[in-house]
Amino acid sequence: MYLVAFVDEAKCIGCKTCMQTCPEPNAIAYIASRKKAFVISEKCKGCGVCEVKCPKAAITLQQIVVDVADEEECPVIMSCPI
Ligand code: SF4
Ligand code: SF4
Repeated sequence: MYLVAFVDEAKCIGCKTCMQTCPEPNAIAYIASRKKAFVISEKCKGCGVCEVKCPKAAITLQQIVVDVADEEECPVIMSCPI
């Protein structure tokens, strides 16, 4: 299980504050056609900075549960140094 940020497009005003404060390069994209932010889940480290900084409470961290049968797809397991 790990945490990933998600953007509620109904609340997002496209201010890009999340993009400017996220410590992970390119973890949040901007969809120009809709003027909304979008989290690239594979690059998100679940630190929660964007959730705190968003002025519209449009971002929430959500738990992602990985089935053990899919462990080869799990980024946590793949990056585990042990
Ligand atoms: S900080 Fe919030 S409102 Fe601004 S672009 Fe990001 S998700 Fe949208
Ligand atoms: S939770 Fe952290 S790493 Fe993920 S998008 Fe938000 S600020 Fe970036």
